[in-house]
Amino acid sequence: MRTIHANFCLMNSETEAEKVLKKYFSHPSFRGNQEIIINRLLSGSGNHCLVLMPTGAGKSLCYQVPSLCLPGGTLVISPLISLMKDQVDSLKSRGIKAAFINSTVSREKKEKRLEQFVSGKIKILYITPERFKKPDFMRSIRQADISLLAVDEAHCISVWGSDFRPDYSRIGEFREALGNPLTIALTASATPEVQKDIVRCLGLEQDEVKIFHQGIKRPNLRLEAEEMLDEDAKIAKILTLIEENPGSGIIYFALIRTLENFSELLDRKKISHLTYHGKLPQRERRDVQNIFMKEQELVLATNAFGMGIDKADIRLIVHAEIPGSIESYYQEIGRAGRDGKPALCFLLYNQDDLTIHMDFIKWSNPEPSYYEKLHQFLQKNMDKVNAFGRDYLNDQLVYKNRFDFRLETALGLMERYGVLSGSIPQKNLTIMGELPPELTDQERHDEGIMHDRKKLLGIVNYFRSESCRFAGIEEYFGFPGEEDCGHCDNCLDL
Ligand code: ADP
Ligand code: MG
Repeated sequence: MRTIHANFCLMNSETEAEKVLKKYFSHPSFRGNQEIIINRLLSGSGNHCLVLMPTGAGKSLCYQVPSLCLPGGTLVISPLISLMKDQVDSLKSRGIKAAFINSTVSREKKEKRLEQFVSGKIKILYITPERFKKPDFMRSIRQADISLLAVDEAHCISVWGSDFRPDYSRIGEFREALGNPLTIALTASATPEVQKDIVRCLGLEQDEVKIFHQGIKRPNLRLEAEEMLDEDAKIAKILTLIEENPGSGIIYFALIRTLENFSELLDRKKISHLTYHGKLPQRERRDVQNIFMKEQELVLATNAFGMGIDKADIRLIVHAEIPGSIESYYQEIGRAGRDGKPALCFLLYNQDDLTIHMDFIKWSNPEPSYYEKLHQFLQKNMDKVNAFGRDYLNDQLVYKNRFDFRLETALGLMERYGVLSGSIPQKNLTIMGELPPELTDQERHDEGIMHDRKKLLGIVNYFRSESCRFAGIEEYFGFPGEEDCGHCDNCLDL
């Protein structure tokens, strides 16, 4: 029997939501928790939702369907500029009036789209969180009749999320300015700590929000892990895994150096493969991604690879070096076997690899003194930095290790906090203000380091664990009632 929902409680006949699903999205039925989430949103104004669902499970539909059932507009906040256009194009091709506003859109178009949303001509508007800072935008958006606020990639709200966006932390203020509309927050992964942060930052109480956990067990994925005592053993193991698991695969490396060495070895063995990492020019990266999407290939990649990779038939995912956290690991293995057919995810652990991560943690948390030095240097030498480029800046802030990415982290965070705008490649990097306390506070810096170390320890413990691997991941994300999967190396006692 169907669940009863307030507005449309006609048993055994199609609900409004089902009609919308068929009419606009041409899917025969809802999947997983989609239907109960949608029904909750449609059953009254105070029924906020926090949705935890793996990537590819269909989170978007949870707000897109209600948006077409509710009288007012739906505002979607997402930090992912690169995916906004695709989402909107796909909605438009289904006859849904949608648009996006972000930094890539001209001023005239921004104004026009906003006006159309306010007047009700556009039903779904996607925006980036940096819009909250624009007084003109805030003035206009207040005029809109907003039935639903959807916060995608909601883990970015939390300082402890994997991809914190300072602008996102203003979301509670923003929501209040809109009159506290019905809200749905969505993410693929958030630890209980991050879940709490999301609810708090939205300005909600825990009991106003229902959290929907969608089990992250995937019956077709087999999780295995093994300790490697040295590099030779590791290489031999990866070669065997490649041979035994033909088809598309991804081998993740923590370091570009080890990735390149392994690529040379595969070349010598005439094993066809692609490589993908952050140091490759953007065009080459795009080409690699396109080939991988079309063909059955093996790609050697760093964690830079994967955003927006929705390929159904990935049969093998190997972590040649342990990732930095369960969040990253889970996100990366989630790309395997989306077609439902068997896929293997193999984690290789070598204790020596932990030193790489200790460096990564240091470089992802630049010291307050580093920020100050960089800020001062930029203040005095911005003309030169824009004229001579990043290498010049790098040379001025010398580090012993050429892989040290402290500068990238610091520039990125200074931009997110509004201290910098523009970019070095475009030769228009500009200082907009002073450093915020968030970047210069020693205690906060130390806390950041401790936090990242705890995450690393989480994945090491996951490796060492002798109980079900899927249940271990679910427990980490606070999912209730984990049961053994029955098909990982620990369940099978391999
Ligand atoms: P997520 O945001 O959770 O990563 P998306 O919302 O992008 O996932 O959806 C992933 C894919 O699943 C899309 O191609 C979408 O069309 C498809 N999908 C979503 N819901 C359903 C459904 N009920 N039936 C069939 N396909 C669906
Ligand atoms: Mg999504």
